[in-house]
Amino acid sequence: MSVRTRFAPSPTGYLHVGGARTALFSWLYARKHGGRFILRIEDTDLERSTQASVNAILEGMTWLNLEYDEGPFYQTHRFERYNEVIGELMVKGLAYRCNCSKERLDELRERQMAHKEKPRYDGCCRNKQISPDEPHVIRFKNPVDGAVVVDDMIRGKVAFNNTELDDLIIRRTDGAPTYNLTVVVDDHDMAITHVIRGDDHLNNTPRQINMLKAMGWDVPRYAHVPMILGDDGARLSKRHGAVSVMQYLEDGFLPEALLNYLVRLGWSHGDQELFSVDEMVHLFDVDAVNKSPSAFNTDKLLWINQQYLKSADPLRIAHLVSRHLGDLGIDPAEGPDLVAVVEAQRERASTLKELAAISLFYYRDFENYDEKAAAKALKAPAVEPLRKMREKLALLEDWSREAIHQGIEQVVAELQVGFGKVGMPLRVAVTGGAPSPDLDLTLFLIGRDACLRRIDRAVAFIEA
Ligand code: GLU
Repeated sequence: MSVRTRFAPSPTGYLHVGGARTALFSWLYARKHGGRFILRIEDTDLERSTQASVNAILEGMTWLNLEYDEGPFYQTHRFERYNEVIGELMVKGLAYRCNCSKERLDELRERQMAHKEKPRYDGCCRNKQISPDEPHVIRFKNPVDGAVVVDDMIRGKVAFNNTELDDLIIRRTDGAPTYNLTVVVDDHDMAITHVIRGDDHLNNTPRQINMLKAMGWDVPRYAHVPMILGDDGARLSKRHGAVSVMQYLEDGFLPEALLNYLVRLGWSHGDQELFSVDEMVHLFDVDAVNKSPSAFNTDKLLWINQQYLKSADPLRIAHLVSRHLGDLGIDPAEGPDLVAVVEAQRERASTLKELAAISLFYYRDFENYDEKAAAKALKAPAVEPLRKMREKLALLEDWSREAIHQGIEQVVAELQVGFGKVGMPLRVAVTGGAPSPDLDLTLFLIGRDACLRRIDRAVAFIEA
């Protein structure tokens, strides 16, 4: 049996991190077993589904490189098929028309609640002959006794008594099939072998199993993935900041870092933190996913992103960071080589956005000095070293790291002071106090004109 998994989002919003993790687990499971990964768009809720959400989901999956082998299949294109199955259930006597009024159902619910019973449909129309011409819903005849055992790959065996499950509506009055029916038909028709989804669907599973059995279809394996909590222990929501996957792109995260972070949410392999996609495919297993919810930890995501930022191809990082520099009004073509800047700065940043922000001074004069740095380094005794450095730098024949380095050494020797007495004010003069690499490299990248101009500015600042 070849493995077939699916991701079945409802297009009622963007792809959020919870959905992305479910998609990742399903994708990994298919890849690990040489199977196929199917994308199904569950858009039967016509009021809440939008094309914009479909696009946002596809965009998120593309960014994360979660490529699907089949689909996207849209449930709204399959109504005929769902009706065919509903018809078959009717013929087999496993579904029936129900015309109970809203008032009757409300009253029933109230009575049950008053008796502290779980509200459920009482099967009133089970044996009635209701004409197809009058308004009605269609209900599935759930077995009345026995139990359904969900043999979940993450949670183990979870039993549900059929007495707890009532006769579910599978087609509404307006003729639209309902979620549990469409999922059952699709999982069967798409030959899904493993249903990996959020555990908010666990209560639907026994109902779906009963319908699969009623149709004489195979029951897939299920794996219900526990939810993700925010840092504060509450269910992850917009309150916790960026929950749309695309927001992480905006914020300067690398897709492989987000995937790595997501795979570790609820799954581990010893104490290994970093996994290439190939390693994930090889090592991940759905039965090893934790039963309890996992908490989202932004600091850890930042740390993982930093590790990928440090080791990724600098050319690629330069390409990605140029967009963030653009957001800050910088055209990196008008300044030092961005690849060299990336190599010089990337250890100091956790995100591409931060990398852009801390690299601004290479491309334009900073507005203000960092107050602390200026208070420490830009004081009266710094004037002479700064003036000497200016002279030296202006006269360097060759603007190279080597020559700049020698120039600094010479001024240090001439003034007979420690390196810091020259280096500290010089660094703050040219960077404004932003994090920066070796001084000769910093000056080299900033360029001679900007260095001389900024040294003049620092002297004026001290003397003001
Ligand atoms: N469409 C459902 C959702 O977005 C998922 C259904 C399933 O995976 O079975 O929550």
